[in-house]
Amino acid sequence: MDIQFVGLPSDKVAQVRATGRDDYGLAVEVDTSNGDAWPCRHCLGETPHGEAYLTLAWKPFQGTNAYTETGPLFLCASGCEAAKPSSAVPAILRSDQYLVRGYTGDERILYGTGRVVATAGIADYAKSLLENPEIAFVDIRSAANNCYQCRVVRA
Ligand SMILES: [Zn+2]
Repeated sequence: MDIQFVGLPSDKVAQVRATGRDDYGLAVEVDTSNGDAWPCRHCLGETPHGEAYLTLAWKPFQGTNAYTETGPLFLCASGCEAAKPSSAVPAILRSDQYLVRGYTGDERILYGTGRVVATAGIADYAKSLLENPEIAFVDIRSAANNCYQCRVVRA
């Protein structure tokens, strides 16, 4: 089975940029990249030095239930190109480890799947989770801060 890492959907990203409102209805914060890591979850790249980026609350789910966490992430402020789905671990995953967790088709955590995984092992672990037909997708979050990074799906 092949897997793909995917970024955030362009239609909703465009909506946030156009309205300036996040998933809490708050105004998105706009700052200029100082060259540090401001990983955009749409292009799965870093917002370049001197370019504007957004900080906002995002709910990376279609519906709303007790498991559909909403939390902070960064986006390029201008119209970056969506990342092409890829079998390669996105370059923005530069930390040593991440929280990797499987969700069911009704967007609930499948208990027992959440694990902090060394970055080099993320693809193998995500693949093993997606071999379970109960799991619809796998989310990658930062191990230290729980920020949503990207999703892994069956190719
Ligand atoms: Zn971007």
